[in-house]
Amino acid sequence: MADIEMKNIVKKYGDGFPAVNDVSLDVQDGEFMILVGPSGCGKSTLLRMIVGLEDITSGEMKIGGKVVNTIAPRQRNLSMVFQNYALYPHLTVFENIAFPLRLAKKPDDEVRRRVTETAELLELTEHLERKPANLSGGQRQRVAMGRAIVRQADAFLFDEPLSNLDAKLRGQMRAEISRLQRRLGVTTVYVTHDQTEAMTLGDRVAVLRKGVLQQVGSPRELYEEPANLFVAGFIGSPSMNFLPATIEKAADGTHLDTPLGRFPMPEKGHAAATDERSVLLVGVRPEHFEDATLVSDEKRARGAVVRAHVDVTEWLGNELYAYVPYEAPEDLAGKLRDLSRELDSDQMRTQAVVALDPASLITEGQEAELWIDTSRIQLFDPATGENLTRDEERVAALAARAEQTRQAQRRGQNGTVSGDGAAKAEAKTEAKAEEATETKTEAKDEEGTNPD
Ligand code: ATP
Repeated sequence: MADIEMKNIVKKYGDGFPAVNDVSLDVQDGEFMILVGPSGCGKSTLLRMIVGLEDITSGEMKIGGKVVNTIAPRQRNLSMVFQNYALYPHLTVFENIAFPLRLAKKPDDEVRRRVTETAELLELTEHLERKPANLSGGQRQRVAMGRAIVRQADAFLFDEPLSNLDAKLRGQMRAEISRLQRRLGVTTVYVTHDQTEAMTLGDRVAVLRKGVLQQVGSPRELYEEPANLFVAGFIGSPSMNFLPATIEKAADGTHLDTPLGRFPMPEKGHAAATDERSVLLVGVRPEHFEDATLVSDEKRARGAVVRAHVDVTEWLGNELYAYVPYEAPEDLAGKLRDLSRELDSDQMRTQAVVALDPASLITEGQEAELWIDTSRIQLFDPATGENLTRDEERVAALAARAEQTRQAQRRGQNGTVSGDGAAKAEAKTEAKAEEATETKTEAKDEEGTNPD
């Protein structure tokens, strides 16, 4: 197993266009890292540079501490699983999995042992003599993973491996890949444009836009503390609403005047209201709205109530979505349209999507009172897209927590962690010590069982 270190990586294709632009990213040993972003953002190019299928224009790529810029793909000891699985139709499942071992001219008994072990792990034992054409999509996926696992590679690289599967199977395979990765503890880089895959699979997620890295963090950090408008809009489904707002400084305090109504500036937003800035974009996630008639007085006081015309409602049993169109100044509406296009989103940007308690009796065509949890809103600079309310202390705490959970999962414990700082630090040190011992033991085991 190995860590992957990327420093100022640039990839320019023939026409000089930087498909990957100055990306620095470290993937830790055993970590599950997701590369995500809309079509054309450079995620596959970055993955192909890790594996060696694409030359690096400038920057440094290290795997396991060794610079690999000029090292051939085959010598990098990485396993890549492609979208189309790249299985050999004329070979049995056994021989498909055995393929890298045959290529490396391993003795027959070793091939048999390693393929059998891998097939057991992937529950493919009863299919070993079948051909890929006779397998289901999920089984083919597992064969492709088997071929990656059997090589005992330093890292797994996945390029949209689930995009050919139907929604149900995709869900199952997601769970399977996640379980397998944690069990094997192999460093993994996984490319997807599907934010659900990114949120559910990754220890950390790296979001790319037009070749530029926007943010790297745990799914929770990206969701709760997005660095900018792009990340905020990309992560989450339905995505975050962005309401244009004028900052009003009045005798009774600073207010945000939005198309859905006027409400006091939340505590964390005051720093955003500088003299040079009169307009902001207010980010509100759909679930931070509620039908005001269902909100307790105490909760009501913690947020703001606005009146809005509900255009359409969708009652899904466990959720009620209401669509609330609003007017926005043309320049900001244009900006939001561009963002929507770039995010490959079909969500209309001058329409708020609101997730309400399914018990709500709000119906379409109605003028309704909606409560907004103003403590959860994010404020963005419309010019730069920067999140002006990002809480760096909280970001650090979320990162520490995510890392601790990962370490705990690797040790096979449940990820429950204490909120106390000292205990956290202690647990981290202990985790590191244990990890070192484990790695040594594993290495010894491998030495004993693996003649490679
Ligand atoms: P998708 O999800 O659509 O596969 P991606 O994020 O993986 O997209 P890349 O395939 O890495 O994006 O492409 C990044 C950019 O580089 C795109 O603008 C693409 O047009 C360009 N590009 C990719 N391959 C080449 C190539 N061989 N020659 C020239 N330009 C290329």
